[in-house]
Amino acid sequence: AVEVHDVHKWYGAHRVLDGVELTVRPGEVTVILGPSGSGKSTLLRVINHLEKPEVGYVSVNGELIGVRRHGEGRETGVLPAKRRGRLKELSERAILGQRSRIGFVFQNFNLFPHLTALDNVAAAPVATGKLTKPEAQELARQLLGRVGLADKAGAYPRQLSGGQQQRVAIARALALRPGVILFDEPTSALDPELVGEVLAVIKDLATSGTTLIIVTHEIGFAREVADQVVFLDEGRIVEQGPPTEVLDHPKHERTRDFLSKVL
Ligand code: ATP
Ligand code: MG
Repeated sequence: AVEVHDVHKWYGAHRVLDGVELTVRPGEVTVILGPSGSGKSTLLRVINHLEKPEVGYVSVNGELIGVRRHGEGRETGVLPAKRRGRLKELSERAILGQRSRIGFVFQNFNLFPHLTALDNVAAAPVATGKLTKPEAQELARQLLGRVGLADKAGAYPRQLSGGQQQRVAIARALALRPGVILFDEPTSALDPELVGEVLAVIKDLATSGTTLIIVTHEIGFAREVADQVVFLDEGRIVEQGPPTEVLDHPKHERTRDFLSKVL
């Protein structure tokens, strides 16, 4: 599970996350919506330990990050006693270990340009010492098959379409057998005719029980796959619930206004 508790994040005087509270249960799909600048990417970066919140904490599968002790920097949100016993604050080393168990798929694919599709997928399990090179390549072949790219193992990123590159990026995220995969606008850099093939792969992950947190403006997709939809505005969760509530019967003016623009 991913638990985000009372997370506040500032850049200088600019408050980007303002008391975000979010729970994602194992196997659930959460879709995050919100206007540009509302803090969606920052929230994913906090969950992936790329940013440390000034206040509050995030725990991923029971491991805690982001806590500051009283008197150290800004005050932490006080941890419930139950959590304090169960969760532990992570060392830098443990953070690296945990980050390797969180998949991250970016808008612009971020593949290694000098590696083939197969080696892009096989690289991390080898680099982290989890698999030998032959084992990692075997796994990479399986994963490329899963995303429909068995015949592109030897292709370099520049030889692939955007949709194919993004599917390689998803296979690469899967190679570390992550407990959760974060997607930051995975289809927004794609030509419209390539969006469907990427959404189909993500939908396959969703229905096979992978825990997913997806920032996307694909409302139809959100309605189909999301267990919960979260609407973020100015760093706060304005509205959250099943898609039938948030997308079809939004309670807040801000949500209605946003949906009327993206639909
Ligand atoms: P978009 O839909 O455009 O991707 P977003 O919801 O993902 O937007 P964030 O990227 O999380 O928004 O940014 C939230 C706010 O924080 C923005 O106002 C942005 O300018 C600011 N911000 C993000 N990263 C930094 C940084 N490293 N330093 C300073 N300000 C930042
Ligand atoms: Mg963003």
